[in-house]
Amino acid sequence: MERLDAFMARANAAYYATRDPFADFTTSPEISQVFGELLGLWAAVMWREMGSPPGILLAEAGPGRGTLMADALRATAQAAPDFRPALHLVESSPRLRAIQAGKLPGAVWHESVEDLPPGPMVFLANEFLDALPIRQIRGEGEAFVVDGERVWSPDSDAPIQETCDVAIDIVRALAARGATALILDYGPSESAPGDSVQAIRDGAPADPFVDPGTADLTAHVDFAALARAARAAGANVHGPTPQGKFLASLGLFQRTGILARTQPPARAGAMIQAAQRLAEPDRMGRLFKAMAICHPGLPTPPGFEA
Ligand code: SAH
Repeated sequence: MERLDAFMARANAAYYATRDPFADFTTSPEISQVFGELLGLWAAVMWREMGSPPGILLAEAGPGRGTLMADALRATAQAAPDFRPALHLVESSPRLRAIQAGKLPGAVWHESVEDLPPGPMVFLANEFLDALPIRQIRGEGEAFVVDGERVWSPDSDAPIQETCDVAIDIVRALAARGATALILDYGPSESAPGDSVQAIRDGAPADPFVDPGTADLTAHVDFAALARAARAAGANVHGPTPQGKFLASLGLFQRTGILARTQPPARAGAMIQAAQRLAEPDRMGRLFKAMAICHPGLPTPPGFEA
């Protein structure tokens, strides 16, 4: 009998260590290069708002193939050459660390967000928090996994409440150190009861509780709970705002249009469709959200204006 969070942590550690997650699912930075470019420019703007501290840390948690950060740094090298951050990555998978190292020379890796060195920091995380282990509680009962099945102990019919203690701790630590953090992930804007654990195995929905390590397990990110934790630790919180609205206001379609203009028609069309996939409400534009956590002295970040 293993509590759900322990099961999920063990299953995902094995999954990310041994499998190629991108054979099972795709993510925004893999869909369009403009995603990472816009996030890089966002980071450079926030660095300036922070007073352009030299040696600022640019951290990313769960960088996957390193695509987001490579796109971000290419954009900032052009548009903000004086932004020369120290690159710090939080990645537990040795396999993915090796892939990231190929794209991001000079980066330094850490096991967890708590291990990031002190100092002014811009922190990015796309589809990282949804992979962190959650607990499910209903009434007096708690979810455990036994022999490939979820059981409740004690049994209860109450609605399921989910909590992700690891994510709350991360956000609290980011707020307490005055970091500027941008979190993109999927989940509702208001905390809602219900079971959001899902598994993708070989590219298709699967039973989350069997064969741990063979499927990617995720749960909805509870943005409202994270916002409360960040505010309680003294930070300002902006959003969550739908990803489509956020990216459009940062110039997703303008930038895509500029890139597409110099491409052959088929390639140009694919680039525009990729941008639409990120932004359209019935695709990734609404369920995915952006939320920023900032020092209260900073102005509203780009993309979060009313
Ligand atoms: N941000 C990337 C990848 C998302 S997949 C993208 O958008 O494409 C989730 C990423 O988080 C992977 O890199 C995975 O190895 C990493 N990850 C998952 N759980 C982790 C943990 N507990 N500690 C550190 N990294 C973790």
